Amino acid sequence: MRKDFLPFSRPSISEEDISAVGEVLRSGWITTGPKTAAFERDFREYVGCRHGVALASATAGMHLLLKALGIGPGDEVITPSMTWVSTVNLIVLAGATPVFADIDRDTLMVTPETVAPCFSSRTKAVIPVHFAGASANLSALRKQAAHKGIPLVEDAAHALGTHHRGAHVGAEGTAIFSFHPIKNITTGEGGMFCTDDAETAERISRLKFHGLGVDAYDRETQGRSPQAQVLEPGYKYNMTDVAAILGLRQLRRVNQFIQKRRGLAERYMERLAEVDELLPLAISEDTTQHAWHLFIVRLDIHRAGISRDEFMAELKKKNIGTGLHFRAVHLQKYYREVMGFRQGILPHTEWNSDRICSLPLFPDMTFEDVDDVVEAVKEVLGG
Ligand SMILES: *Cc1c(COP(=O)(O)O)cnc(C)c1O
Repeated sequence: MRKDFLPFSRPSISEEDISAVGEVLRSGWITTGPKTAAFERDFREYVGCRHGVALASATAGMHLLLKALGIGPGDEVITPSMTWVSTVNLIVLAGATPVFADIDRDTLMVTPETVAPCFSSRTKAVIPVHFAGASANLSALRKQAAHKGIPLVEDAAHALGTHHRGAHVGAEGTAIFSFHPIKNITTGEGGMFCTDDAETAERISRLKFHGLGVDAYDRETQGRSPQAQVLEPGYKYNMTDVAAILGLRQLRRVNQFIQKRRGLAERYMERLAEVDELLPLAISEDTTQHAWHLFIVRLDIHRAGISRDEFMAELKKKNIGTGLHFRAVHLQKYYREVMGFRQGILPHTEWNSDRICSLPLFPDMTFEDVDDVVEAVKEVLGG
């Protein structure tokens, strides 16, 4: 058995990253400033998007987006239940109603077929998720939303470095990225709102800083009036330079990170092919580069004779950490008890919610670590 605990994720932070953060701290300017502006510029260049607004988190971006779209009571937003809770919580907090589209059983993503029955006269947005580093069937989903005249916004939290039909996710349309420590690059906490629409970008920029239309850095450096006025009430969701310097440095290594992730994922696939109790995910045809944010397997609970939760607990006893991305949102306490969502409404989501498990995957892992995981998996399932 492994002597030390292998976490399911760990950010790749170099000594140079740490020194660079120190330099920002010593510089006298630690909130939104030149580093944030440079990070936005480099991010735009990498992804190929026209506008990029750095934020405190992806959740902040989703909050601002719902506000910008004017979503409120009586409105509906279509999104999967197989997602992180943040999007759904924000829809509810806005006073609107989440309408859950089921997923393809093997890609974990919504499809035009699962989204189609969710539209109503109250639908105000469609928010698909690019899952685990693969791409959603974006072209078809976009066509469908455009046909209905409804904005589509991509939850791209897993998709930095993902290519959809040869183009970076985020290069077109509106997409929100996350830099939480488990994501493909990190700023501690942070997010990027990308859009090809100038008006949306301006609105998000304004809403992220009190609705002033300028942030502290603009006021300091660009000679805009320090007496800027509130154009509309806004929030406080700007990214700090302390965070942005990490993002700038991490972004330079993102391709290298993805290459490492891919190598590890390939070794998993090779070594796990003979483990009949584990079912791999399918990769959508539209994915021309997989960013390998997560390595997810599904436990065949009948064949294995144990539940997914037991499987995770047994791996932990063998010093292997795992993650769960995600537990279906509609079956969580509040959504069942207060919102009245029932088991049985989303068969593929629920089937996966009981079976998925994310195995360790991060750039600083070694092939030996993968082998340790595979060995522990085999012991748990064979024993
Ligand atoms: C991480 C994540 C988010 C939220 O990102 P934050 O930066 O933590 O707010 C949203 N959606 C998905 C699918 C995620 O995995």
